[in-house]
Amino acid sequence: MATYSNSRVSTYENCPYQYKLKYIDRVKVDVPTTIEAFMGDMVHQTLEHLYKLKKFKKRVALNVLIKFYRDLWEKNYSDDILIVKAEKEKLTAKNYKKMGEKFITHYYERMKPFEEMTILGLETQDRMTLPDGNQWHVRIDKLGCDSEGNYFVCDYKTNSRMKDQEEADSDRQLALYSIWVKDKFKDAKSVKLIWHMLAFNKDAISERTDEQLKKLQQEVCDIIKEIENAKEFPRKQSALCDYCVYKEQCPSFKHEVGLEKIEDIKKFKEDEGVKLVDEFSEIKTKQTELKKAEEEFREKLITYAKQFGVDIVYGSNKKCSVKEFDKIVLPEGENKEKFIQLMKDKGLYEELSMVCYPRLNSKVVSGEIDNELKKMVDIIQDFRLSLSKRKDVEEE
Ligand code: SF4
Repeated sequence: MATYSNSRVSTYENCPYQYKLKYIDRVKVDVPTTIEAFMGDMVHQTLEHLYKLKKFKKRVALNVLIKFYRDLWEKNYSDDILIVKAEKEKLTAKNYKKMGEKFITHYYERMKPFEEMTILGLETQDRMTLPDGNQWHVRIDKLGCDSEGNYFVCDYKTNSRMKDQEEADSDRQLALYSIWVKDKFKDAKSVKLIWHMLAFNKDAISERTDEQLKKLQQEVCDIIKEIENAKEFPRKQSALCDYCVYKEQCPSFKHEVGLEKIEDIKKFKEDEGVKLVDEFSEIKTKQTELKKAEEEFREKLITYAKQFGVDIVYGSNKKCSVKEFDKIVLPEGENKEKFIQLMKDKGLYEELSMVCYPRLNSKVVSGEIDNELKKMVDIIQDFRLSLSKRKDVEEE
């Protein structure tokens, strides 16, 4: 039996291939600490310090707490911390440090004298057993209760997007922790899930019924089962790829990462892959232009043939026949169905309709079609090439 966590399961949901690299192949990569994560960590540690002292009935003044935060920052900050928004938005480490101070100050002012609950745990870590026997990792920033049997699972958030009610009510991470709380503390009458949204000085609050928790737990067990039975781990490209630390290992980005390391534009243009795609793209553009030109010449030849009353137009080495013929236009919408039905009634459908190859192909490959049919076809490997614009490159 393995130990799962919300981030492990989310990794699989976001990109099974990333999951494989991280949890199965255990590929080691250098993960740079981002300034956002660093600031979040410093703020978490500062608030933990505040509540730890509070446990010992020691009140900390705001200026003392801010000094603690500043000292912690200085002690831990290093120049290799990544500031992604440095270039575009001209943000510096100083801006983030100040932002963290503001978060702590606002929280302090709003929550003082910090008697909103009896603190039971800070940065609590534990495991709980899921119905399928697997373990689930529990990590709670602040756990507390009141004398009425209400328990509070609190999470500090330093991100710049407010969690709305819908999001809070569908969050899986804290909801699963409430199962752990109910199991550990038998007097728990309610478990409130609280996200302290520090950038907004507001809380997002949610609570789940036992029925909802049971359903959620089952959903998690189902995903775990899917992970454990998975034979293939396809790549799932999304906006999250921008933050993926496995780009160098990912077939969809490996080449791009290699190109980013080439500083000389001449060397970049000489890269074999770059040359192939550039030439392929050129051919495709020419093909489109030729197709357009063909259409134009077709129209011109028809006009010419009509104007001079000829049905063969002669060139130097070739001649072009321009013959008019009748063709039918199939009905659309409701009439299309009627038309097909009529063909079937007249026993013509079998003879005159065609197999839709792309749909048949996808149904056979995905296993949606029964094995008897599948056994009659050969499945061979082929490639589909599609060109698209690189979003990170400005047009020339
Ligand atoms: S870069 Fe994107 S597609 Fe590739 S492994 Fe990472 S998340 Fe998956």
